Amino acid sequence: MRSHRPTPELAQHLEQLYERFPFDRSFADDPISTIRPLATDRRRGEVAGIVGATLAIGNTTAIRGAIARVAALGGGDVAWFLRPGNRTERARRLRDFRHRWIRGDQLDHLFRVLADFYAHHATLEEPFLAGLSAGGFSVGLDRLSSALRGEGRSAEVGPAPAGYRALFPSPLDPSGSPCKRLTLFVRWMVRERYPDLGYWTGVPTGELKVPLDHHVYWIAYHLGLTARRTRSWDAVEEVSEALRRIDPLDPVKYDFVLCHTGISGDCPKERDLAVCGPCSVRPDCRLWRGRRVAA
Ligand code: SF4
Repeated sequence: MRSHRPTPELAQHLEQLYERFPFDRSFADDPISTIRPLATDRRRGEVAGIVGATLAIGNTTAIRGAIARVAALGGGDVAWFLRPGNRTERARRLRDFRHRWIRGDQLDHLFRVLADFYAHHATLEEPFLAGLSAGGFSVGLDRLSSALRGEGRSAEVGPAPAGYRALFPSPLDPSGSPCKRLTLFVRWMVRERYPDLGYWTGVPTGELKVPLDHHVYWIAYHLGLTARRTRSWDAVEEVSEALRRIDPLDPVKYDFVLCHTGISGDCPKERDLAVCGPCSVRPDCRLWRGRRVAA
């Protein structure tokens, strides 16, 4: 297939897509709608956010349900999971929890790691910011991943259960993972604009990278924001850089809209005039290149 570059009008068309987007419809479907009520302060925002991001696998209905089930096990307050006196009861309540391949014992370990982390630090922004200052976003995400993996934890946290480490990939891992879930968590924490939470004030929004899920990747590829055929960290860098050229101060502004255009069925991922007709980015879409549509 020939290479496909962004059109000069793409910025204008993305803005039209954003302005016309039914945010309220898609907010209700997004995991952030379940996280927001739990995020009553920064600590609870981080805990609810990292639980939500960790469970962000599969369709949004199942993800929201999984987050709500975890919250219910803590009596509706995610800070309950961090209280030292609740360790035995926490393990008991989480014992039968499952969401896709994520198990309750892994979440129990995450809460042990977080409780230990918060005994020495005020916020997960600290390791991220230290990495960002040392080497940019990918190093920040690596330091955050390392903290969540429990590297450097106290002995009393204990050994991680099988599969735990893989829940928190780093962009510096040889696998080249796109790290969608941690990148999404950072977006929620940094951006103040709706629908994000904005608890991290030290990270400039211009530094953010796009959480490249399947929907965002598909549209990004078809708009020419990346030519890469795999959803890798290199693709994350490329799409983010293309979006940064459009909006240097808020490169992930369009992430929610692009993602939910795919989730909602507004983008059929094939040429379908009935659905594509009103799409603001149709003139930029690879599937419609060189095709005229009768008025
Ligand atoms: S033109 Fe159609 S296929 Fe292309 S991005 Fe828009 S809705 Fe999706």
